[in-house]
Amino acid sequence: MDPNLRVLGDGANLLVDDDGVAELVVALEAPVFRTVEPTGERRGGAVIVRAGAGANLPKLINETVRLGLAGLEGLGGIPASVGGALVMNAGGAFGQIADAVARVHALDRDAREVTLERTDIGFGYRCSGLGGLLLTACDFALRPSDPGPLRTRLLEVMEYKKRTQPLAEHSAGCCFKNPTLDSAIEGVGSSGDRVSAGLLIDRAGCKGLSVGSARVSERHANFFVPDRDGCARDLIALMELVERRVFEAFGVRLEREVVVWRRGTA
Ligand SMILES: Cc1cc2nc3c(=O)[nH]c(=O)nc-3n(C[C@H](O)[C@H](O)[C@H](O)COP(=O)(O)OP(=O)(O)OC[C@H]3O[C@@H](n4cnc5c(N)ncnc54)[C@H](O)[C@@H]3O)c2cc1C
Repeated sequence: MDPNLRVLGDGANLLVDDDGVAELVVALEAPVFRTVEPTGERRGGAVIVRAGAGANLPKLINETVRLGLAGLEGLGGIPASVGGALVMNAGGAFGQIADAVARVHALDRDAREVTLERTDIGFGYRCSGLGGLLLTACDFALRPSDPGPLRTRLLEVMEYKKRTQPLAEHSAGCCFKNPTLDSAIEGVGSSGDRVSAGLLIDRAGCKGLSVGSARVSERHANFFVPDRDGCARDLIALMELVERRVFEAFGVRLEREVVVWRRGTA
């Protein structure tokens, strides 16, 4: 992708610095990037559905559940465009988007069209290796299923999210990735375990901590929320403070899940 370009999805995982960015920002809003339709192709027992990268993920999930196609319902309640969800490999306790991907369509940095099969994509925990491309569409492989139980499952997933996360407050979702421990921490986990970043932040005494207009949510310590007229500077300072406190308390370096756009950074 052209280095003078940035791609905006739904902005749900994004914190833009108060000074903005120098590059041109592209949003895939044209109808061609928002359509969702079965391609007519079948792979094994699965139906292939193509979704534009600008399509809204919750709408795609509703539509596929309505059609009785299983595979995306575990992502209920995650705000995202299809492109943003792929780049971040969005997911949680009930699965990740990578599990439903057949192939991804994109433009490379010379604006050439490329198609990547799932096996060629480096999907991992909240990462994909797709960041250097401009994603244009994705083919999902979804299993025909009874729409009734699928809808029930989707509602359960959304209910769980509402119960456990402060969805009504402005945030960019989880601020940090859940780290894998190098050594055991009593009451948290053993060496090699992936543990909750929120738990570490809480145990480091940071729940409710604030810097200027930004504070760590009282409800879920991995959600950082700004006041109504808050600024990015305070959120960034709060992230740095929490990173320091968790490192001092447990020797764990938290890795940011939130993407921060600042002048002079990629
Ligand atoms: C209340 C709340 C709850 C959340 N819960 C979850 C959760 O449970 N699980 C989870 O994984 N995430 C969660 N998130 C974070 C967020 O929803 C996901 O990371 C989502 O995938 C972001 O998608 P987006 O379209 O908003 O991407 P953006 O935030 O707009 O962008 C994220 C990155 O993707 C890049 N990008 C976007 N579109 C394209 C494209 N077409 N081509 C190339 N690059 C692109 C951007 O440049 C940026 O680097 C939550 C966020 C909120 C606010």
